[in-house]
Amino acid sequence: MATNGHLPESNIDVLIIGAGPAGLMTACWMAHCGVTTRIVDKRNTKIFCGQADGLQCRSLEIFDSLGFADRAWKEANHMIEICMWNPGPDGVIRRSDRIPDTIVGLSRFTQSVIHQGRVERWFLDNIKKYSKDTIDVERGVLPESLDIDKEKVEDPSAHPVTVKLRHLSDEEATPEQQIKGSKVSDGLFRSSLIYEDDEEELIRKSSARAGTAEIVHAKYVVGCDGARSWTRRALGFELQGEATDFIWGVLDIIPITDFPDVRMRCAIHSAENGSLMVIPRENKLVRLYIQLKEVIPDATGRADRSKITPELILSAAQKILSPYKIDYEYCDWWTAYQIGQRVGTNFDAHQRVFLAGDAVHTHSPKAGQGMNVSMQDAFNLGWKVALVSKGIAKRSILSTYEGERRRVAQDLIDFDHRFSRLFSGRPAKDLMDAEGVSMEEFKEAFLKGNMFASGLSVNYGPSVLVAKAADAIENGGLNGSSSVGISADAFAKKQALAPGLPIGMRFNSVKVVSQADARPWHIQEKLKSNGRFRVVLFAGNILDVEQRKRVEKFCEALDSPTSFFHTATPSSAPLESVVEVLTVHSSKRTDTELLRDFPEILHPFDPHDGWDYDKVFADDETYHEGFADAYTKYGIDKERGCVVVARPDQHVGWIGEFEDFDGLQKYFEGCLVLSPKA
Ligand code: FAD
Repeated sequence: MATNGHLPESNIDVLIIGAGPAGLMTACWMAHCGVTTRIVDKRNTKIFCGQADGLQCRSLEIFDSLGFADRAWKEANHMIEICMWNPGPDGVIRRSDRIPDTIVGLSRFTQSVIHQGRVERWFLDNIKKYSKDTIDVERGVLPESLDIDKEKVEDPSAHPVTVKLRHLSDEEATPEQQIKGSKVSDGLFRSSLIYEDDEEELIRKSSARAGTAEIVHAKYVVGCDGARSWTRRALGFELQGEATDFIWGVLDIIPITDFPDVRMRCAIHSAENGSLMVIPRENKLVRLYIQLKEVIPDATGRADRSKITPELILSAAQKILSPYKIDYEYCDWWTAYQIGQRVGTNFDAHQRVFLAGDAVHTHSPKAGQGMNVSMQDAFNLGWKVALVSKGIAKRSILSTYEGERRRVAQDLIDFDHRFSRLFSGRPAKDLMDAEGVSMEEFKEAFLKGNMFASGLSVNYGPSVLVAKAADAIENGGLNGSSSVGISADAFAKKQALAPGLPIGMRFNSVKVVSQADARPWHIQEKLKSNGRFRVVLFAGNILDVEQRKRVEKFCEALDSPTSFFHTATPSSAPLESVVEVLTVHSSKRTDTELLRDFPEILHPFDPHDGWDYDKVFADDETYHEGFADAYTKYGIDKERGCVVVARPDQHVGWIGEFEDFDGLQKYFEGCLVLSPKA
């Protein structure tokens, strides 16, 4: 660290502001890709309870790719069934429906719930392990100023973002609880209802002490500092949208109740007293989301904090659940919030400073989306920043972040708008009651919303990373950067090679069996998050002579010194090579031999480690888990196969025939820095 004037100065590749789910996901990518990184948070502790609690199927798949889904799967409560409760003709609530919580067959995981503090714990452990203790959240640290040197933004080796950081005392970095001396944690200090920006005050106090400031020059800065984002304000950007008048309370309690479905996820509409959502959680906890009719926000949107107490929230719940009784001895956490749906005007400045998570979109928490979408923003962004900062990928891929994630944020807001209105509204008394909410419509929205809520409906539009035609997707439009220029007809032909793997969507997982040791694997388990692209060679019937020739020809092209496979910039560990080739063939496993039937490039030899036994798989029967029939599920021709590219975030980027090696080469030329070996 150098000192310039009075302040110490240092260079860093990536600076992350905020260590919530979005910041930690970004740090996780940097740890997995070996990028030098600092992550700072103004609070002196992580959260220990409460806040977000829903984990979508997609988030669990992502955790698996990072190496900690097993912890989530063991600890979290699995959500299996949703019960709908509505008033009967006598006005008394009764169970009117049951539906599965997760659409059957959508993912190898079902939606699960656990408090945000545990999710942050898994991230912190994972970051520590993969960064070999080099990345650790620096708490009680916040930015004071941020400047971008516009002259240097296109220079890949420059550190054009200068941030002045302040170090706080323990006292300054400790958030205040709503009820002084209470043993129960409340989340009001982060709630949209009463949260006030305190950065100026914190910096003023800390500036009074010497030695609390430093200057950091970063290649990239990612602002993950939540809904009131300082980074967003420093860049002069805004969130645009609306706040509604609905105020909701949240209680995490161990309930004492005679309500029969308290261990089910329930949506309860009472006749006159508002709505309630029940979320059964880990360790006998249950979360209640309760509409608070007694608390009205003022003209500025702020509510009188002294009126909001756990007792008030419980009393609202008791009225909605009546004639059933509910009470508690133990409350783990509570809060209140107002629903506001907003999206950022900008997602980045000069593709050097990015915003992720709540910093670029806010919405109600009831649909269980906030933490998930925030983590998934960072999952989309992190590998791009990592590969560009290491000089492996072209800077142009960074523009796909806004293109890809703005659409998701907008879809989320639209979904939340519909869902919140239906959930907050009074149930219709009869068909003529136009102001009331139809319970049939509510159920329909829940069923349709399940696909969106799983996180698996995300479909990225055309760009240098997604080879599809601009007009070939319903929800598309160009994604910020130039598309690879495929006509609608050409795209349709490519997609027809594997209709079950839609280009732009995440690589849907099916079980395949290892050629070398007969163990079944979900193919997604082989798409680990380490910054590598995967070329998945669906080799078809490798025992057919003609097909074998096609595969060999493709492998020769792959092995040529000018192919992307050999010219993509190699990097130091843990990113040995940025493109990995996996093979799934459709012949009988027991009729084929790894070393006899598959070209060497598909199972490379290392003088120290021998052959690679972990790259070739068969779509065939297993001893213990039946036959998954991957080719049929993906719609791939079992004789001829095809080639599929999965991006480092598991989204399908390209599909083609073996003969279209040039197209594949062009795809990688579009996004990677290729340099012929000397
Ligand atoms: P955050 O989790 O807000 O993290 C931002 C981090 O940045 C914090 O650690 C903060 O201390 C830090 N920070 C802020 N300003 C600065 C600064 N100037 N400098 C340095 N650090 C800074 N979602 C759900 O899915 N389900 C729920 O039940 C749910 N309940 C919620 C209840 C409340 C009260 C709130 C506020 C949110 C809730 N959410 C819920 C939303 C969910 O918590 C967020 O969507 C999610 O945490 C967003 O993650 P993030 O990393 O973008 O931001």
